[in-house]
Amino acid sequence: MEIPSLNKQQEFTLASVTDLTSSSSSPSSSPVVATFSCVNEVKELRFQGSESSDGFSFDLSSTQLFKLGPLQFICVSDISGSAKENSSFSRGVVIKFRDEKESKEFCDSFEECKKDSVKQGSSFLNGTVFSANKSKFDDKIEAASAKMYFHYYGQLLHQQNMLQDYVRTGTYHAAVMENRSDFSGRVVVDVGAGSGILSLFAALAGAKHVYAVEASEMAEYARKLIAGNPLLAERITVIKGKIEDIELPEKADVLISEPMGTLLVNERMLETYVIARDRFLSPNGKMFPTVGRIHMAPFADEFLFVEMANKALFWQQQNYYGVDLTPLYVSAHQGYFSQPVVDAFDPRLLVAPSMFHMIDFTKMTEEQFYEIDIPLKFTASVCTRVHGLACWFDVLFDGSTVQRWFTTAPGAPTTHWYQIRCVLSQPIHVMAGQEITGRLHLVAHSAQSYTINLTLSAKMWGPGANQGGILQTSSCKLDLKEPYYRMSQPQVYPTQEPPAQSQDIHIHSDDLEEVELLQQTANAQL
Ligand code: SAH
Repeated sequence: MEIPSLNKQQEFTLASVTDLTSSSSSPSSSPVVATFSCVNEVKELRFQGSESSDGFSFDLSSTQLFKLGPLQFICVSDISGSAKENSSFSRGVVIKFRDEKESKEFCDSFEECKKDSVKQGSSFLNGTVFSANKSKFDDKIEAASAKMYFHYYGQLLHQQNMLQDYVRTGTYHAAVMENRSDFSGRVVVDVGAGSGILSLFAALAGAKHVYAVEASEMAEYARKLIAGNPLLAERITVIKGKIEDIELPEKADVLISEPMGTLLVNERMLETYVIARDRFLSPNGKMFPTVGRIHMAPFADEFLFVEMANKALFWQQQNYYGVDLTPLYVSAHQGYFSQPVVDAFDPRLLVAPSMFHMIDFTKMTEEQFYEIDIPLKFTASVCTRVHGLACWFDVLFDGSTVQRWFTTAPGAPTTHWYQIRCVLSQPIHVMAGQEITGRLHLVAHSAQSYTINLTLSAKMWGPGANQGGILQTSSCKLDLKEPYYRMSQPQVYPTQEPPAQSQDIHIHSDDLEEVELLQQTANAQL
């Protein structure tokens, strides 16, 4: 990460300074100079009187400025150097300027230097500058998005929805219980505790103490739920606040969290999970889950494609109560195809063995989540029309006793994540054995989600193909924040075989021929 250089010093002569933390608390009798400076890569605001030799400094990454009037401000900071003593006292000074121009220039410099100090702090390792993470969440996430997000998770019905996903909650329970030795006698942090369920599981597994950190109003319900389980309650502390902002009294041996969204990365909570790792986890501490994988495979689904294309047909009407709607047809069509489709589909719609992209939660930096670029390469198993890319994820609990995978794959028991499909408005044609290449490019945005850019290509089949062929390429841009929840159950296809299992999806050409047949029938009906 780029480290901004700000080695120049800026000085401001103040009319007076009153140190609120000193016993006398009277304004300075002589002028005081305030200097913004960079000392050992830490940005400081230093106050120095002309007479006294004992000035004092504020670490800008933990300093806030409040305006009391046009010329008067209060400046509050954590006392630097006191982290070791575990003290959380603040120092405050009231500062007065001689005129409004100086007051404004001081504010501008303060904002500028503070911005730099936060940026710089974020590149430090494991907790060197705790306070540098402060407001990191607010810096990158739109307030409106965060408000809606935490409002959603503050409601019991949505927590219940997750608790009632028995595949999810049951797998977490199993992963904790069968790895008791990782929890027993250990300090655990539950990152985004919600109802507190994972904290309770950790306490059940013998944790010495669990810090249940939850930013939404759900923290109050978690307190209630935990208090109602008195045998566990004394070993759990609920902390209401964002992982990015709160402080903990000790380091953790284990982090437990359920930060996964659609396509693994939606909601951008994995960033919070790795921030928790950097701030609170001891070296060699464990993370439950430990790694995640995004799985991808091209699919053919004529039903879905036609369903989406048909939605926009409404705008083809030339006489809608006497109004021609066609000027909006193209935009409506684009709109539908920019929505990732969320539902559970039959794995036999996949037309090539899947590939995956691994994300190691123990190593990935927060910044690496901002842009995720995945080159794609598949070999088609059948001759078909490819309608897009299907994606799902799994995560690994790398326990000391048992390694357990939790999967959201098609064909595996359905979870509340279902699977997602990015549908191309221009399908591409492939033959069995043909290579499909492309790119899945995910770019994080400030509404806690991602813009998805997908490109799939295949060489044209037929005359000239051997001499390099002509490339058919189809691209689409989707917003992961705006999915189309289709939620159909896996369609029943006449087959003798049990559904394919999670990570070993074998594509049988017989099955695929069956799908083809079904699709032909569907086409005939449409
Ligand atoms: N752990 C619970 C809830 C998982 S949902 C369970 O497994 O059932 C994720 C939770 O994390 C939500 O309740 C959400 O409010 C919380 N959360 C998301 N981002 C957070 C952040 N930055 N700091 C603290 N909590 C956060």
